[in-house]
Amino acid sequence: MRPVIIAANWKMHTSPSDAGELARTIAARTREPHVVRVICPPFLCLAAVGEALAASDPEVAIGAQNVHHELAGAYTGEVSAPMLEGLATWVILGHSERRRDAGETDELIGRKLGRALSAGLRPIVCVGEQLQDREAGRADAVVRNQIEGIFRALEAGNEARSTVVIAYEPVWAIGTGRNASGADAAAMTGVIRAGLAAQGFVAEAEDVPVLYGGSVTSANIGEFLGEPSIDGALVGGASLKPDEMAGIVARAAITAAARLGQPAAR
Ligand code: PEP
Repeated sequence: MRPVIIAANWKMHTSPSDAGELARTIAARTREPHVVRVICPPFLCLAAVGEALAASDPEVAIGAQNVHHELAGAYTGEVSAPMLEGLATWVILGHSERRRDAGETDELIGRKLGRALSAGLRPIVCVGEQLQDREAGRADAVVRNQIEGIFRALEAGNEARSTVVIAYEPVWAIGTGRNASGADAAAMTGVIRAGLAAQGFVAEAEDVPVLYGGSVTSANIGEFLGEPSIDGALVGGASLKPDEMAGIVARAAITAAARLGQPAAR
């Protein structure tokens, strides 16, 4: 059975002086059973968030928003996977804002994926089409190609690959207030899992959690979690708002309880 995961992408928001307090507040407002919670602050805030959560709610996992594809070297301003030891256990890879601003390609994201897995980081790999792709009926093909390009180089025998999480994030829905429909997102989970199976994840493709991301709020999370093939959300803007996170995680707890065959806690 797949877990229900709510991951917060704080993007380039917060500072070391306020990130710990925000993490503590969100953790306290989202203490729901059976939901995997992950907070991904900026690199500079990882230590402050780590200290705050260690003292208040160590069940909340901490993720980085990116990692370099090399272990060390002349890469000014970059952060490698070994440097994250003790600071993060998850990492977001291939976010569309990095594809847009840092020119990240599927091949490069695939190399980052290998590094992340070797370092024991649990990756949230982002895929998603542009608006023009969806309007031209190419959304499925674009996402299938991204999966192929990212996972092509990953060896079938890599045991760590069972930790992979995918986030389907249609680019036109990120930060725009315009979300995909639950049905369209659910249809894309089928494309993603078929793509993973084609890359050798034959037995495990159905076990890979697929999240939806793109203007998720407490008001629309139910549309996504009502789809059995969607396993949670990668939340951007709303993840900085404790009220929103409380609503999103509370709804996630209902799905998590249902998957376990348990009554919801409330
Ligand atoms: C994101 O940053 O991955 C994201 C989905 O952002 P937002 O929720 O703001 O659209």
